[in-house]
Amino acid sequence: MNKQRIAIIGAGTAGLASATLLSRQGHDVTLIERASELTTVGAGILLQPSGVEVLAEIGSLDHMLEYGHRVEALYGWIPSGRAIMQVQYSHLNEGRELFGLGVHRSALCHVLDTALSGVTHQRWFGCEVSAVTQNGKASTVQFRKDGQDHSETFDAVIIANGSSSQLRPSSLVKYDRQYPWGAMWLIRPLTEKLSSLNKPHLQQKYAGSSVMLGILPTGCIPDATETPLVSLFWSLPVASIPDWQAERFDFSAWKSRVEALWPEVSPLVRELKSSSELLPATYRDVILSHWGIGRVGVIGDAAHAMSPQLGQGSNMALLDASALTRSVEASDDWEGVWHNFNKERSGSIRFYQRMSRLLTPLFQSNIPGVAMMRDIALPVSHGIPWLRRHMAETVSGRKKKWL
Ligand SMILES: Cc1cc2nc3c(=O)[nH]c(=O)nc-3n(C[C@H](O)[C@H](O)[C@H](O)COP(=O)(O)OP(=O)(O)OC[C@H]3O[C@@H](n4cnc5c(N)ncnc54)[C@H](O)[C@@H]3O)c2cc1C
Repeated sequence: MNKQRIAIIGAGTAGLASATLLSRQGHDVTLIERASELTTVGAGILLQPSGVEVLAEIGSLDHMLEYGHRVEALYGWIPSGRAIMQVQYSHLNEGRELFGLGVHRSALCHVLDTALSGVTHQRWFGCEVSAVTQNGKASTVQFRKDGQDHSETFDAVIIANGSSSQLRPSSLVKYDRQYPWGAMWLIRPLTEKLSSLNKPHLQQKYAGSSVMLGILPTGCIPDATETPLVSLFWSLPVASIPDWQAERFDFSAWKSRVEALWPEVSPLVRELKSSSELLPATYRDVILSHWGIGRVGVIGDAAHAMSPQLGQGSNMALLDASALTRSVEASDDWEGVWHNFNKERSGSIRFYQRMSRLLTPLFQSNIPGVAMMRDIALPVSHGIPWLRRHMAETVSGRKKKWL
């Protein structure tokens, strides 16, 4: 397509990556973000091999490797010590090394921002977008900056403002609700005392379907490269978060429970003084009929927020950015862009939306009997090479259809 003036709303993974790739294609890109600077908030994020490939496409993989912690497998155990989850990327048998990365959100944003800084673009930070409208010829962004309302017109607008977006065209939204389960998380230095957790693995412990504790080595942040970090996630119903945060919450009982479930995590939780050291995370489940209409498109969590069970959030944001850039390059107009984008991304997005809805209750629910079925079925499936490979393909973010 000839040179377009494009606004991208949101400087998260999806916004930063697509701003870089579209600017490199020669488009006039304006990145609009409500925060006044890139946020450093967040815990560990697992980038799957398919997302790592997009970082390579952007030319940022070596930079990300300076901060990320290499991940080769996902393991999950039940209290008997039996591993019911064993997914290794090597099961893809591709004849080449595949790996994911445990990264801190601020390190990922820093790496993507460094790539973007190398290309000509505009950035309007501290601008909260309140509405996006369009007519046949242009799209308009209304935003507030320094207490004043403004509006600006572009050839097209890409909405990448995360799972709680209120900007998605309502005609595209089929489903949007909060997941009933969330997590409490914290991030701490991965000290010598925690060396048994310092592995190239995402590790989880389950007890029934209602207890899940996860540990992800998270690499380091740009300001403190000498301090490796680890993230801890404790799953719980969203309705229990206020109890957790109440003064009466029995934090010592929780710590004892965690130490009994996973003794190697003791040095991490023993030092905690208050439940307020863990922060809540909630998730949304968002389904759109398609991801673009006229001169407005939606990518990243705004387009397909899902439970983090399959660890695909940032990954899918990177895959969207890559597909969007190819679609723009291959099309003569925005209708063509969305046709190409939907064609390339719909199989994968639909697969992961369905899969995460199917799998999440096995790990985050109070449904009787579901954990027993899970604890029998998953180990059996790991013993079947064909299924083992499909599971590795699913976790790696490569799947586009069921079989
Ligand atoms: C503060 C924060 C912390 C997070 N922590 C974690 C974590 O610990 N672990 C994890 O797995 N995932 C985390 N996520 C989600 C994770 O970043 C995303 O799943 C993934 O990276 C996909 O990114 P995205 O670009 O689609 O959306 P996001 O990363 O959510 O980025 C959206 C961006 O849009 C901006 N924005 C929102 N509304 C507006 C508006 N109206 N106008 C202008 N800008 C707007 C936001 O400030 C944000 O920078 C976090 C997201 C945020 C915003």
